[in-house]
Amino acid sequence: MTRIGPLLALTLALLTLLRQDAEPAQHSTAVLLIVLAVSHWQPERIWRLRAWLLGSLLLVMLLVMASYLLPEYWLSIAHWNAWLSALPGDAYRWRPPALMTLALLLLVASLQLNLRLALGAPLLLTLSGLALLSQALIQQWATNIWVLDHAAPPSLLAAAGCLLTVQASLLIRHRREQLPGLRRPLLAGLAPGLAALLFWHQQTTLEDRRQYHASAVQSRALAADFERENADHLAAMRRFVSFWELYDAPPSDADWARQASRYHQDYRYFLNIAFILPSSEIIRVFPLAGNENALGARLFDDQPAGRPALSEALIHGREGSTGAIDLLQGVPGIIHYLPVHSRTSGEVLGATAMVVSLPALLDTLFDGIDTRAQALRLYAGEQLLGEVGSLDDRVNWRHRFSIDVGGQPLLLDALPGRSALLMQRARLPEVGLLVGLVFAYLLYLVLFAYQRLAGQHRAAHHTNQELRREVQARSILQREVEWMARHDELTELPNRRLFMETLDANAERRPLSVLICDVDHFKRINDHLGHLAGDRYLRHIAEIGRRVICEQDGLFARYGGEEFVACLPGSDTAQAKQLAERLRQAVHQADLLHHDGQRLSISIGIATQTQGALDIGQLMQVADEALYVAKAGGRNRVVSGRPLTLSDGTCDPLSTR
Ligand code: GH3
Ligand code: MG
Ligand code: MG
Repeated sequence: MTRIGPLLALTLALLTLLRQDAEPAQHSTAVLLIVLAVSHWQPERIWRLRAWLLGSLLLVMLLVMASYLLPEYWLSIAHWNAWLSALPGDAYRWRPPALMTLALLLLVASLQLNLRLALGAPLLLTLSGLALLSQALIQQWATNIWVLDHAAPPSLLAAAGCLLTVQASLLIRHRREQLPGLRRPLLAGLAPGLAALLFWHQQTTLEDRRQYHASAVQSRALAADFERENADHLAAMRRFVSFWELYDAPPSDADWARQASRYHQDYRYFLNIAFILPSSEIIRVFPLAGNENALGARLFDDQPAGRPALSEALIHGREGSTGAIDLLQGVPGIIHYLPVHSRTSGEVLGATAMVVSLPALLDTLFDGIDTRAQALRLYAGEQLLGEVGSLDDRVNWRHRFSIDVGGQPLLLDALPGRSALLMQRARLPEVGLLVGLVFAYLLYLVLFAYQRLAGQHRAAHHTNQELRREVQARSILQREVEWMARHDELTELPNRRLFMETLDANAERRPLSVLICDVDHFKRINDHLGHLAGDRYLRHIAEIGRRVICEQDGLFARYGGEEFVACLPGSDTAQAKQLAERLRQAVHQADLLHHDGQRLSISIGIATQTQGALDIGQLMQVADEALYVAKAGGRNRVVSGRPLTLSDGTCDPLSTR
């Protein structure tokens, strides 16, 4: 499609361009479409040329669109004509219809924006489709009283449709994943866009109708002028006739010339005024110059077309009018015959003939009208009798009025000119359309940006939560690691490190006692009851130690293997010994038995720092020595080491249980 589409559009546009009967606007639209179709070709090397082509096309389209928006008195047809003097005929006749221009402009813009979602290409394409659809529908639905030309041939609509399809398929192919997220901004932009198009249609129709009726009213006034003028000169001629009736004889040459000249001056479109005898012979004519031949002519014979009307006057004594006929002078006109009766006898003395040139009547009457605004044409049936103004660029309107001229019906056509109508035309429909479309575009951009930001915000929030969970997991792990670094896994008691840190932390406390406990004959437990039982025993001992020692605000820790230690800040030797004794007894009384039924016991060595600077190594050594003494003394006992007062190693004698 992406290759065939532009080719098809190119062919359709070329065919329209080659058509002889196409309007100038259709030719120019075809040229624009050809350039646009060529721009769809994406050559690798000469992309600069393509960008240049698209840029110029966009500029031209914007200029055309501007011509629809700017008031006529700012940039009139005359200006455009002056600028585009190379174009044959009126510049406006080359202007593509507004909706077609809009559709093409949007297509060019979306291509120029590289079909980017963030720059609104999907909305531009959709609006272009809507404009094309409206363009197609308006030709079906709209009344044909158009000031602006809205017609675009199906071939051009199809060509634009091809290019639209190509762009849409390109967009879908390259941005398929992102399209579902576009629904909201697209719909939000589409609503005002559609409303703007409807508003434009309604306002354009209204404006067309308003202008149509305004010009009809104006034309009707002209037709009324025409009829009034006719009635006027007939009334004048009746006054003229009554003068001769008073005279009561055919007029003398001098009288005729004097009287007729006045009327002739007033009504310049009277080709001549003549007096005719009942025999239909012309005996007087004014002006004489140029009409000498008419003198003596017998009209019954010379002008058969006027015979019924003349008979009416000469034989029946009533006014007669020929209706529109070809005059002897070679122009179309009307002759009114008015009978002149004798005042005394009442007989018909003759008739005055008033020869009206219809072209001259039109010229005289409508001398002052703006021939740019309208042309007037006078018909008798199908025959054109005369015209005022000839317009190249007319709208497709004709106001036709039937006019009674001395009892004869004539038709007056008023044909409004486009430029004068454009001058009076409100630009509200086009301005409204543009404002609506700009609003739709901005709405799309805002919603698109908002949606994208919201997406990014959601993603950031999600990452944040992940991060928070990760941090939590890590801090739990960290706490576990920290706990494991300072605790023993089997008994969950503080380990040697925490014990040492506690000692450090209490280095200034005096007295400060430590206990070292070793399970007696523990190997036997392992050997006879197994390691699992050994582990269980260790946990039990740890539980007892924790209970007893922590009651005294001390710290009970596993020192390693089946050895436990306790740190007792503030306990002197006696208090430590008392506590150690309670611990020993508690273990001994617990339900912990060797394989042979003997109770499990522990031996405890105590060391106390009563004064002096703390030397942990020395303190532990003293306790260890005391433990050794306890073991050597038969186990299941508590032995206090020498109290440490100074760091020089002075001590008391050992005391045992
Ligand atoms: P003594 O009365 O002289 O202390 O005799 P003993 O058998 O207790 O000797 P010793 O203190 O040297 O033995 C320690 C034994 O404790 C060695 C080892 O098998 C055992 N042991 C050390 N750690 C663990 C442990 O975590 N679990 C188990 N089940 N046994 C352990
Ligand atoms: Mg041991
Ligand atoms: Mg032991």
